[in-house]
Amino acid sequence: MSTTCLFCRIIAGEIPGRFLYQDERFVVLQDVNPQAPLHALVIPRKHVATLNDLLPEDDGLVGEMFRRAALVAREHGVADSGYRTVFNCNREAGQTVFHIHLHLLGGRPLAWPPG
Ligand code: AMP
Ligand code: ZN
Repeated sequence: MSTTCLFCRIIAGEIPGRFLYQDERFVVLQDVNPQAPLHALVIPRKHVATLNDLLPEDDGLVGEMFRRAALVAREHGVADSGYRTVFNCNREAGQTVFHIHLHLLGGRPLAWPPG
């Protein structure tokens, strides 16, 4: 837990968030500024600032994040039509919240390459 981290504070209940799912290791939040009809964030309760800070012991955590994203995509009816998962790492990739989160975007055609 980092007291200055937005996602740690939402997970702790200090700041409101729209939770789509939660368990002992993860929460899934609805993004406050959605970029697609489905825009969810899969967030581990453990505070890890960026992908660069992951440890070998986090391998299972990251695998579960992708599996959770796939389950949320299925629940929201986009598993077969298609969806995108994205981790932004650091400034040039557009990371603004320094607690890792997997974006899940779906419900519309998504352009490639991304901007
Ligand atoms: P990134 O730019 O990859 O770090 O993603 C951060 C994401 O968090 C953005 O898509 C924001 O719209 C989203 N966001 C920021 N504040 C909140 C909040 N209070 N609740 C839910 N999502 C948020
Ligand atoms: Zn945090």
